[in-house]
Amino acid sequence: MSNVIYKNIGRNPIRAAGGEGVWLIDEDGNRYLDTCGGVAVSSLGHCHPRIVAAMERYARQLAWAHAGSYTTAAAEELADTLVASYGGAGKAQFLSGGSEAIELALKVAYQYHWERGEGSRSTFIARRQNYHGSTLGTLAVSGNAQRRSIFEPMLGPAEFVAPCYAYRDQRDDESAEQYADRLATELEERILLLGKENVAGFLAETVVGSTSGAVPPVPGYFRKVRQVCDRYGVLLILDEVMAGMGRTGLPYAYLEDGIVPDIVAVGKGLAAGYQPISAIVVSDEIHAALERGSGVLRNGQTHVNHPFACAVALEVQRTIVDDDLLGNVLARGAQLREELAAALAGEEVVGDIRGRGLFVGVEFVTDRATRAPSTGGDQLTAALKREALRRGLLIYPGSGTVDGVVGNHVLFAPPFIATESEIAEMVDRFADVVRACLPASVRA
Ligand code: PLP
Repeated sequence: MSNVIYKNIGRNPIRAAGGEGVWLIDEDGNRYLDTCGGVAVSSLGHCHPRIVAAMERYARQLAWAHAGSYTTAAAEELADTLVASYGGAGKAQFLSGGSEAIELALKVAYQYHWERGEGSRSTFIARRQNYHGSTLGTLAVSGNAQRRSIFEPMLGPAEFVAPCYAYRDQRDDESAEQYADRLATELEERILLLGKENVAGFLAETVVGSTSGAVPPVPGYFRKVRQVCDRYGVLLILDEVMAGMGRTGLPYAYLEDGIVPDIVAVGKGLAAGYQPISAIVVSDEIHAALERGSGVLRNGQTHVNHPFACAVALEVQRTIVDDDLLGNVLARGAQLREELAAALAGEEVVGDIRGRGLFVGVEFVTDRATRAPSTGGDQLTAALKREALRRGLLIYPGSGTVDGVVGNHVLFAPPFIATESEIAEMVDRFADVVRACLPASVRA
């Protein structure tokens, strides 16, 4: 009998006992090929020798010092690293998880307006289907019905507009540019409806991850959104907790979209799961407004800028650069998409394969021609997971892909260290899982 509270209460999870590169190993010695880094976390795989050695070294040096009184070389250098690729001058702070980073992003955005005498700007506009965290503040700005669920009565107000989801929402008679224009106009109209003096920021996942399965924006979308935000003094806040830190082949996913956000949040891949750590990077302009104003960041948490976590994250980020892992993300990502497309070409239940780098989604349908969404729901998610485990494969399936209710997908986010043959093996095993589960479940 366990005294641990599990996510699926009453169902015992696998007991993980070890890891080796792209493999996880359970207590009985069974090996599972990891296609998703858990939830897009383990970007260096398991037990990476350089990270393990660094952890041993840093553990002897310093575990913790309170950020209210101390800074450390690790925090300083990690901030330099994150700011160097941000796309402009900025400042970083480190938290423990993605929800905390988004929560801080919202608070800093509001404080920025407040310091400038615009305290009425307290409304955030976010997008339907995007997920930003599980705390009450971040859930309030998350547009996914499934995750808001029973907590709806506890959630503060937020505004939602459409996500950029070309496979579902771009009309046949519309170019990508016209689609992006339509979405930017929706945002602009919402700002005007609310009154720009009431709007603090626009929040979006650059590439939507867990809720819809690696949905990238159409070209030009974020440039248009950036222009709308600038026109009304609304801050652009990008959530790259999942998509950032190399997952798409760039340090930040938005670099491909040719914009710089006012605030970006990163998490999962920052220390690749070797420590729980997340971060926000804010523009110098925001930081300067706080400095000129009250001079105090109105937020404080025990583990801010955690020295050991920062040191480990720094080693992870250095390893990504030294081993040219972003090059591998791009090459293996292209391979993953091509091989999935080839292996699943004959499966009518596979509607779309999309993504960037090693962040790839497979969306299921009941009819490829009409794109009618899968109705397999949570049962299909469970069946896919079970079948994958039986075949020694860890996958990250989801339901509610389209609108939080209908649709199913699987999200691929394998470690950046995956080799060509490991990716090929993932695709082979996954195609078998699809063939074993889907026709019966989805078409029923
Ligand atoms: N934002 C995005 C895009 C996420 O995918 C997640 C977690 O899945 C979060 C925020 C919240 O991060 P955490 O679970 O680390 O609090």
